[in-house]
Amino acid sequence: MSKSGRKVVLIGTGMVGMSFAYAALNQNVCSELVLCDINEQKAIGEAQDLNHGLAFSNSSMRIYQSGYEACEDAEIVVICAGVNQKPNESRLELLQRNVKVFQSIIEPVVKSGFDGIFLVATNPVDIMTSVTCSLSGFEPTRVIGTGTTLDTARLRYLLGSYFEVSPKNVHAYVIGEHGDSEFTPWSQALVSTKPVLDIVEDNANLYNLDRLNEISENVKNAAQEIIAAKGATYYGIGMATARIVRAILSDENSILTTSVLLEGEYGQNDVFVGNPCIINHSGISRKVELSLTDNELEKLNNSCNILRKSLNSL
Ligand code: NAD
Repeated sequence: MSKSGRKVVLIGTGMVGMSFAYAALNQNVCSELVLCDINEQKAIGEAQDLNHGLAFSNSSMRIYQSGYEACEDAEIVVICAGVNQKPNESRLELLQRNVKVFQSIIEPVVKSGFDGIFLVATNPVDIMTSVTCSLSGFEPTRVIGTGTTLDTARLRYLLGSYFEVSPKNVHAYVIGEHGDSEFTPWSQALVSTKPVLDIVEDNANLYNLDRLNEISENVKNAAQEIIAAKGATYYGIGMATARIVRAILSDENSILTTSVLLEGEYGQNDVFVGNPCIINHSGISRKVELSLTDNELEKLNNSCNILRKSLNSL
């Protein structure tokens, strides 16, 4: 462990990585932030740029570029390295290209003596989290993917707008693959303590199920929409990644829909998938198994099968 107990190494200083770094600096989530990239000059420049903002922040974070040796005493290694999703390219199509990138990263990180928590944002994130777990040999509780954390934030934002309540009072999750087969289990969605399905039924003049399903579709298609408009998505995922890092370093026991290895939950095994997890200093402390309806279980089953098939194709 580092002296401060709050050292994070970021691998991949592209748009997603630097959005995470910028959010981490502004939110003061760690005390030491190391930037590592195959393009060393870029990581050096990014560290310089962030350091020049220190005078305007309430943080005294140490920010510098380094190689993998810096991972030795880090609490968290955040991986945002990889190749970017192209317009109309599915997340699963990125797989082969990104596995090669990960082979070149995980080995030197483990060799450094790193004994903390891996947090993966690279797409397809559920598969890349699984790949990280296999390549590192770490126990699955210490290998976390950003999963459907961002999708869940998008859902809460849209539901908050629809019901005109703060997203903070919307308790609803997107689960499954971070991708085309993800879904919202409406049976588990609440505003305050009231089920969303009851709110719709009791206020048929104001709300309807079709609109809820549209919201779910909007969440699913958000990434493609943003990519079509501006080429890539990065601020949202950067902030979601900073949120998970804070939950770990502050030992929060917060519930976030990260990518996690299912070990019998929902009758599923051997697959990393987005599911609510209790996150603290040990990584994934516990998984929350939702009481899904038969139809929702079928959707989760479909998502897990897609991911397993993709993993098996490697
Ligand atoms: P980017 O091209 O801007 O950055 C990628 C960075 O990785 C570059 O700086 C590159 O030099 C570095 N890199 C490449 N190979 C490397 C290696 N072998 N070792 C070290 N560094 C290496 O891409 P981006 O927009 O930052 O996206 C990064 C990843 O995040 C992509 O896979 C993207 O699909 C994913 N992403 C995930 C989510 C999510 O919700 N999980 C959302 C958006 C993007």
